[in-house]
Amino acid sequence: MTSLLLSTAASATPYSQATLTHAERLHQHALTSDSALQTVESLTTEVGPRLAGSEGDARAVAWAQAKLQQMGFDRVYLEPVEIPHWERGYADARVTLPFPQPLVITALGNSVATPEGGIEASIIRFPTLADLQAAAPEQVSGKLVFIDHKMERDKEGRGYGPVVKARGVGAVEAAKKGAVGLLLRSVSTSSHRFAHTGVMRYIDGVARIPAVAISPPDADQLTRMLARDSDIRVKLDLEAMDHGTTTSYNVIGEITGDRKAEEIVLIGAHLDTWDEGTGALDDGAGVGIVTAAAGHILALEQRPQRTLRVVLYAAEEIGLLGARAYRDAHKGELDKHFIAAEADFGAGPIFRLDSRVNERALPAFDQMHALLAPLGVERGHNHSWGGPDVSVLPPLGVPVAGLSMDGTDYFDYHHTPDDTFDKIDPDAIRQSAAVYTLFAWLMANAEVDLRPIPLPEER
Ligand SMILES: [Zn+2]
Repeated sequence: MTSLLLSTAASATPYSQATLTHAERLHQHALTSDSALQTVESLTTEVGPRLAGSEGDARAVAWAQAKLQQMGFDRVYLEPVEIPHWERGYADARVTLPFPQPLVITALGNSVATPEGGIEASIIRFPTLADLQAAAPEQVSGKLVFIDHKMERDKEGRGYGPVVKARGVGAVEAAKKGAVGLLLRSVSTSSHRFAHTGVMRYIDGVARIPAVAISPPDADQLTRMLARDSDIRVKLDLEAMDHGTTTSYNVIGEITGDRKAEEIVLIGAHLDTWDEGTGALDDGAGVGIVTAAAGHILALEQRPQRTLRVVLYAAEEIGLLGARAYRDAHKGELDKHFIAAEADFGAGPIFRLDSRVNERALPAFDQMHALLAPLGVERGHNHSWGGPDVSVLPPLGVPVAGLSMDGTDYFDYHHTPDDTFDKIDPDAIRQSAAVYTLFAWLMANAEVDLRPIPLPEER
């Protein structure tokens, strides 16, 4: 294997022989290291839930800063991010008539509380958001809207986009027609009785109605009830609290480049989580993967040519707020961002290398792929967005890579109390960390121009 890789590499121009020799050592080292797993274990155990703005979030920032300092990064610093601080509080829902029983629900992030004592109303079911949008207001007025859109399982999570829109705007669309609340079938591929939270939005000029997700089996239960009786009454009681704005921080660690220090290879993940699980898959795994990759490179006696910057973003879950703050704070050096990538889709394994770079640079990615192929990575496309937080950068011309993770099971756990450390597959996260290590090392040393990138299409 080694001789094959080195001989492939010997004829390759973007990566020097020394770069490739170190890559081979990094590959071997990363595959025997559990540092990514140990980092997730530490974060999920010692900090636990870390909803943006919460006390756990503040402890996560302190944990990350100490972790990066202890790992020996050349520079560790915090950048402030102004964020809203929302708190879930108590949440309860039950069918009152004609089949009284409790429902498993969770408030959607940013939801308002119900009035004191809760609200009780008949439900009206819509298979999709579009069906709600097409409905006559008199059908909806005074009711609890129930959107029952099932998510399809897919390795790349392609089932998420079509369904998650209802989570974001469902309450606004329902309120426009006079509804008193929203019950959303969880954006989930699981049949377990957990409700999946996630952020929702209000807009000015439309009534702010409470919005909750119900577990998939409870959504099925409501549908069965509606088949028996068109008038199903549900009582909803939410205590959600808006604590105004507060400050969180992007936590940043750098390994200073030894020849092109002003050029930046960014690898990121987000530090915040939802509040009910311990955020192992979303996104403790990403934090473990990118810090382990940098740690492996720090262990070499050879420094990368470019600066390797690890960004642990604040407040991703509540709307990419850390990503926007980073983009604005670094506006003056975005043209020095050589490439960026983010790990935010569980623990892996990584199955494909995607990119958004100048087409002339694709051979450098093909050669990188030759080194990643033994880890089970396929060569992918050139229209990557690089990950949620990093997706704000390509519109400003920054090249990105997508190290695509197998997310077949990701939406079974995503945003639930069940997103916990035991769900991390040690082999998968080790492979992901190895891929990130090679990617970061090769990009930090490549002799290639990745710009200008193909213009991002509107999303
Ligand atoms: Zn995430």
